[in-house]
Amino acid sequence: MNIEVKVGDITIEPVGAIVNAANSSLLGGGGVDGAIHRTAGPQLLAECRKIGGCPTGSACITKAYKLPADYVIHTVGPIWHGGSLDEAGQLRSCYDECLKLADQYGLKSIAFPAISCGVYGYPHAAAVAIAVNAVKTFLTQCSEEIKIIFVCYKPEMADLYRKQLNLK
Ligand code: ADP
Repeated sequence: MNIEVKVGDITIEPVGAIVNAANSSLLGGGGVDGAIHRTAGPQLLAECRKIGGCPTGSACITKAYKLPADYVIHTVGPIWHGGSLDEAGQLRSCYDECLKLADQYGLKSIAFPAISCGVYGYPHAAAVAIAVNAVKTFLTQCSEEIKIIFVCYKPEMADLYRKQLNLK
């Protein structure tokens, strides 16, 4: 499978698209969202403002401006409320919608952060299982070669992905 796990900063990845764990306003925030907007520059915020928002579980694509990636795919993960509000379905939808856009744009590579695993509080192992399942399903159905990179800020998170992928 064309899946890699890395520890580091997603903003330096020279891929077809990096995924932003955005909030529904698309007007920037903390965590990975803040890092992406800081590196991309103010034109990214201007384009996001024109889009006007994105519901939880959906995704939209913009240019990447000063980032080394070609595009940014913004997706809005669920806030964890205990699991009874279809958080799992919404998180799965984030991955599916991002991968659909990558396919539509003919991208050769896409880098994901751990969507919802920061301030949105999703339990890490459960979120990683959803991410890996979504990506594996996509790769078995996709006719084009596309490389998937899970970029983790913390080594402990990378270990969870590697475990889920049986990489060690
Ligand atoms: P959410 O609001 O969806 O929880 P956060 O940005 O708070 O999003 O966190 C999502 C994940 O992104 C967390 O695991 C966090 O450690 C990680 N993260 C934060 N900054 C970066 C970065 N520059 N590159 C990659 N991952 C990052």
